[in-house]
Amino acid sequence: MRYGTKILHNGNETDPNTGALSIPIYQVSTFHQEDIDRPGKYDYARSGNPTREALERTIAALEGGTYGYAFASGMAAVSSVLAIFRPGDHIIAAEDLYGGTYRILTRFFCEFGIEVTFIDATDVNAIEKAVRNNTRALYLESPSNPLLKITDLGAAVDIARRHNLITIIDNTFMSPYFQRPLDLGIDISIHSATKFIGGHSDVIGGLVVTKREDLAKKIYFVQNGYGAVLGPQDCWLLHRGIKTLRARMEIQQQSADKIARWLKNQPWVEEVFYPGLESHNGYAVHAAQATGAGAVLSFKTVTEKVAKSIMKNVKIWSVAVSLGGVESIMSYPVKMSHASMPEEERRRLGITDTLIRLSAGLEEVEDLMEDIEKGAILV
Ligand SMILES: *Cc1c(COP(=O)(O)O)cnc(C)c1O
Repeated sequence: MRYGTKILHNGNETDPNTGALSIPIYQVSTFHQEDIDRPGKYDYARSGNPTREALERTIAALEGGTYGYAFASGMAAVSSVLAIFRPGDHIIAAEDLYGGTYRILTRFFCEFGIEVTFIDATDVNAIEKAVRNNTRALYLESPSNPLLKITDLGAAVDIARRHNLITIIDNTFMSPYFQRPLDLGIDISIHSATKFIGGHSDVIGGLVVTKREDLAKKIYFVQNGYGAVLGPQDCWLLHRGIKTLRARMEIQQQSADKIARWLKNQPWVEEVFYPGLESHNGYAVHAAQATGAGAVLSFKTVTEKVAKSIMKNVKIWSVAVSLGGVESIMSYPVKMSHASMPEEERRRLGITDTLIRLSAGLEEVEDLMEDIEKGAILV
């Protein structure tokens, strides 16, 4: 079966009890036990809920994994995965992570005794150099946020395996439709399902997938024990969002690609960051490990004034935090997703006040380009 078909037919699309073509929302907290000596499959909905389970199995199937877990947000998913580590453990992480992940690592997990070293993950040798006796994990994002940097995932996995590290990736930007990290040897794939998986800017959620049973047990222990589970209504929204994943990703990617190529030729643009451009540093590596470049891109304008004028004058683009929705979203990393990163660190990474990040939606691409151009040529 081809992947696009599997999105709709993976064994989790109909309700086993009724045959309903949409999994019912099991709005329930607890389950009657017929026989106290033989507990049923479900006992309490934090531990398991049929709507959540259908979503968890679906994402596991689509990521090529075995075990899926749904959390109350992308950050709950990230934090619950990080909670499998212990004081004294050391994690190597890519330096241009999602701002919230950077924050929880540096200002929360570090205080619980987890050590982190940030590296430029476009250079896999930097991973090897950062390994210590107590290193337990490698945490990556590829493409990264907001500069769309690429890590050679196969090469990173090789190094990690040699040092017995658990490999973790935040796969939010690609969705399983374009990139399946578990197939490349990554141990744990995480999504902010708020973005492409939900796809409609109407739900906050997080998903985690692994095929390693030892890690699955630890993650489930945190999910059930710590309890940051996703509620059944939100699970249902994600389950529904997934059904149109292919259609959305294909069209949104086409638009992102057109916008990237168009931006490259504008005199008010300094640089465009999109892994689908042949001129992108990571183009070849990305093309070898993913089936598409996705719908997120960023660009630097020649001056801050141009960037601000674009953001103030757009009518079709939503100026907002987030990405991956059916509506096009424009964001300003310095003031939004990366506001929690120290200014000095941002500057070092090239996250400047001329940088705009775009997430292409389903509007007609010509309208999207005209909408950006209006503000740019006013200056
Ligand atoms: C949005 C995002 C997150 C956090 O997800 P929430 O659902 O907002 O908690 C994590 N990683 C990436 C790459 C994101 O874009």
